[in-house]
Amino acid sequence: MAYTVPKLTDYSAEALEKAVSECLAACEAEADEVRNSAELKLFRDRWMARKNGILTQINEVWLKGSPKDAKRDAGRQLNLIKEQVGQLVKAVKVPRVPPLTEDYWPNPTTTAPAWHGRPDLPRLCVEDEALIASQRVDVTLPGIRRPIGAEHPVIRTMHEIVGVFQKLGYSVAEGPVVETDYYNFEALNFPPNHPARDTQDTLFIAGQQSKPQRERLLLRTHTSPVQIRTMEKMRPPIRIVIPGTVHRNDPPDASHSPMFHQIEGLAVDTNITFGDLKGTLDHAMKALFGTSVKTHFRPSFFPFTEPSAELYVTCFICGGSGKRGPDPCRPCKQTGWIEVLGCGMVDPNVFEFVKDNGYDPKKVSGFAFGMGVDRLALLKYGVDDIQLFFQGDVRFLEQFG
Ligand SMILES: [Zn+2]
Repeated sequence: MAYTVPKLTDYSAEALEKAVSECLAACEAEADEVRNSAELKLFRDRWMARKNGILTQINEVWLKGSPKDAKRDAGRQLNLIKEQVGQLVKAVKVPRVPPLTEDYWPNPTTTAPAWHGRPDLPRLCVEDEALIASQRVDVTLPGIRRPIGAEHPVIRTMHEIVGVFQKLGYSVAEGPVVETDYYNFEALNFPPNHPARDTQDTLFIAGQQSKPQRERLLLRTHTSPVQIRTMEKMRPPIRIVIPGTVHRNDPPDASHSPMFHQIEGLAVDTNITFGDLKGTLDHAMKALFGTSVKTHFRPSFFPFTEPSAELYVTCFICGGSGKRGPDPCRPCKQTGWIEVLGCGMVDPNVFEFVKDNGYDPKKVSGFAFGMGVDRLALLKYGVDDIQLFFQGDVRFLEQFG
């Protein structure tokens, strides 16, 4: 029988206390019956709703109907009820799970009921089931494969070369791709009428005719300007490798690209000799192409080194024989040797440009070398067209993944 607020006729202390304890006992009994959140809401509203909740009714029926001299006692009792009911409502936890007893375990001797869930627990409503169904994950499905990128063959070759020199104690230096004529040519001992300064070979930035020649901007044609920039900032001794992109006014074909990659090296110290250059590069080539390769230096010319040389290694495709089985070896043009880089002792004229920073050509000496990374990558991976490196065709690139 649901609790209803009784009318009070007797406002004596005993009568009030009895009414209060009956009310609280009823509330407690109802709290015990609450099984889920919907029932909890009904329970809370029944007792605490401002409009017509039991607490409001008690306020109306008991307090306002009380004789004057009993108002204070009735008010005190009412506050007590309010507090207790509030605590009872707050204490209800849903869903309420009774302690497990044997009764809940299916009896193997009887037929299992159609629904195996515990009957004392609330069933999910239709919306809950739809929500769960929409978020269900089939853990047996294969996962989403995200392809992992790989290093571009040119960048990979570049990292390999830089890595060899880093192990020798070299650090990496970089510089701007847009350079001034001063750093790209003048400070590297290119005379004013050198053919490399012609727009036939160099890509100049347009509209700079009004500037003095040494300030005119261009796309650097080699990584060598970083040699000067580094020597301006760091005093000797110095050991650096300089990887980066360079540009030349070459129409693209199978072996030329207007943009390509170089790695430059520079070592400056007291008493650096051509023997140091040969020993360093011989070690680097063996580290890059295998210990069986031989190195060979041939005289050459570069404006910023004196003496200068080209370095050849035994062809790492035919092993130096010039033949691949019965066929001629194309990469080395049947010579058994492949040119890999240009090098030489730093020209004293170059040191003159950074003399004030400790590079007195009478006191220090050094060697420099530079190689085209793309050409080495072509040889290394047996690719016959440099354009393939820059077209971004995934079918080509994924072969290196
Ligand atoms: Zn060969």
